[in-house]
Formats: sequence, C-alpha cells, structure tokens
Amino acid sequence: MNVDDALSLLKSRKKRLTRMRKHTLDIIYTGGPVSAPDILKTLKMKKHPVNKSTLYREIKFLLKLGLINEVQLDTYVTHYESAFLTHHHHLVCKNCGNIKELICDELEGPLEKLEKRVRTKGFLINDHNLEFFGLCSSCN
Ligand SMILES: [Zn+2]
Ligand SMILES: [Zn+2]
Ligand SMILES: [Zn+2]
Repeated sequence: MNVDDALSLLKSRKKRLTRMRKHTLDIIYTGGPVSAPDILKTLKMKKHPVNKSTLYREIKFLLKLGLINEVQLDTYVTHYESAFLTHHHHLVCKNCGNIKELICDELEGPLEKLEKRVRTKGFLINDHNLEFFGLCSSCN
C-alpha cells in the first residue's frame, strides 16, 4: 500500500483528506521511520507548518486506523512508519541518528523456531523487535 492507496482508503471510509493529512502520510510513507519532530520540520519545509498538538492528534488518528505503526527504537523519541511494509528490522546510527531498514531472511527462520518453542510453553508471540546499533556509512 502506497500513499495513494492509503488516501483512497481514507476516502472510502469517509475521512477528510486535509492537506496536512496528505503531507503527513506522505512524509511517513516515503521517509519512514520518522519521529514527530522530523515530521514537524518537514511540514515546515513544505510550507505547511502545524503545531505539535495538531500533529500528535493526526498521528493518533493514523495509528488508530492502522495506516502507520510505531517503531520503538533505542532513541529518545518514537518513530513512525507505514503499517504495510514487509517485516524488517532496523539499523540505527548512534552518531547521527540515521535509521535504515534491514530485511534479515537469515534470522527469520531460527526466530520462528524459537517462537514455536516458546509457544509450547504457553506464550503466544505474534511479533518481535530487533534493532541493530552502530555507525552508518557516513559516520564510520
Ligand atoms: Zn551516522
Ligand atoms: Zn522500519
Ligand atoms: Zn524479524
């Protein structure tokens, strides 16, 4: 699902398509994972400044509709990304804060096995989070 799909989904659910809504979705879908301060900065650059509480309301709305996900990284702020990405992990640069997506097929098999084993002990795992920290190509 890309930004246009998300917008038509909103339309079909009779939700308003404000300029801010379009911009916010676009920023998260094309630049994700992004934090609220990142989004505020980009909105300002796009000549569409909004205040913090308006943006937080908007983020809450998009989360509730299941269009975006929260990404918990070991940073001070929550990041957001499209809810329709292939399962992946993140590479986080500890120096500049740059975040890259990482699909690790090598890991998913063993992790699935582990999750099955845990399941036999009565705990149902339905997701996992695994992030890698270090220095990005421009910082090392
Ligand atoms: Zn870096
Ligand atoms: Zn991601
Ligand atoms: Zn995984």
